[in-house]
Amino acid sequence: MLNRKIFIKTFGCQMNEYDSNRIYDSVSKLGFVKTTNQSNADCYILNTCHIRDKAKEKVYHEIGRVKKLYRDKKKPILVVAGCVAQAENEEMIKREPYIDIILGPQSYHKVNDLLKNHIVSLKQEETEFDTISKFGYFDKIKNNNDKISAFLTIQEGCDKFCHFCVVPYTRGPEYSRPFNKIILEAEQLIKNGVKEITLLGQNVNAYSYTENSKEYRISHLINHLDQFSELERIRYTTSHPRDMTDDLIECYSSSHKLMPFVHLPIQSGSNKMLELMNRKHTVDHYLKIYERLKKINKEIEFSSDFIIGYPGETQQDFEDTLNLIKKIKFINSFSFIFSPRPGTKASTLDMLDKNLAKERLTLIQEKLFNNQKEKNKSLENSIVDVLVENKIEKQNKLFGRNKYISPVIFNGSESNIGKVVKVKVQNSNQNTLFGVLDKKKKAA
Ligand code: SF4
Repeated sequence: MLNRKIFIKTFGCQMNEYDSNRIYDSVSKLGFVKTTNQSNADCYILNTCHIRDKAKEKVYHEIGRVKKLYRDKKKPILVVAGCVAQAENEEMIKREPYIDIILGPQSYHKVNDLLKNHIVSLKQEETEFDTISKFGYFDKIKNNNDKISAFLTIQEGCDKFCHFCVVPYTRGPEYSRPFNKIILEAEQLIKNGVKEITLLGQNVNAYSYTENSKEYRISHLINHLDQFSELERIRYTTSHPRDMTDDLIECYSSSHKLMPFVHLPIQSGSNKMLELMNRKHTVDHYLKIYERLKKINKEIEFSSDFIIGYPGETQQDFEDTLNLIKKIKFINSFSFIFSPRPGTKASTLDMLDKNLAKERLTLIQEKLFNNQKEKNKSLENSIVDVLVENKIEKQNKLFGRNKYISPVIFNGSESNIGKVVKVKVQNSNQNTLFGVLDKKKKAA
């Protein structure tokens, strides 16, 4: 199979991005070489996401695109991976014979065998929940990611069963990787030149691994990573309010590298809605976390996820969410109208009027976007720390992110890539800060 080209199109969350990179690491053992040209691959993988609306139909639409791209060429081996593959399994091959392999997220360790078998022209489906074998396999393969900012999966799956969510069905029960394997992978990433590690998990702060009667939590990982001198920044996502334990909160004062930016989904500002969603936390609990973290460092900012128009949401519930956004001033947040996922409890409930839900979403987004604009505006004329990730070729400028993960674009030489530099912010818009390198002043 020497020098066959492989292209992976990744949809959805950071975990899918991490998974796609690990699949590349695995198939390189078979001689597959990564290509960025999607119309010239021997193997084409669609790494799918089931979170958004009409996920399944979007995958069939994508397959239609691939068919067109290869109409006059040799057909690539088409693999559908990810959460849609898990949810739909062999049904997909029946409906779309162009698909060769169906690969669920817990079966990625089998990708090489499946590709080898495919050479003898077998259609295959692999959607077992086999998380331990998957990570056992990938632990033996070097993580080749050498970007400045890299993801590192520490935990997968979820036991919480929020009524709207498919993750417990597509990614399976909570599983935490062994502590020492995560540290080894982090060391490898740092050796590759990575300067920022984002610890990943569907319930990342539920991470719990016990060895010799000692329980390791995400706080242990953060404190350990903090000691690697060549690492500049630590982040983690996505977390659940119920798992914001004291030891994790304490990291915000003990760690020098943990960024003061907390992405903590709340979904609604109404306790009634949180109960209907089966979120297992209250608004009050969330506010206490916010207050404790602000006490540790008033510069900490929050971002969140919001579901608008969930079945049963009254005008009062909606206003409670607006009030919470006023109080916490969330930045960089995500908000969506509820859309039912097949197989979840919420999929059987009566939907709210579509137009009403749309109106509410517009109002929520106005507030969230405004918070974002105001935050960026407040940084104008100040000096911010920026981890430089790459050069934007067309603009001949550098791209990096501040501690709140906002993009920063500025002039500077390529020798700054991989460094934390000080940038004087000159202007901004909702999404981005623009500035110039400042070598003299201290960063705010
Ligand atoms: S905690 Fe997160 S991943 Fe788990 S069911 Fe709820 S929304 Fe889904």
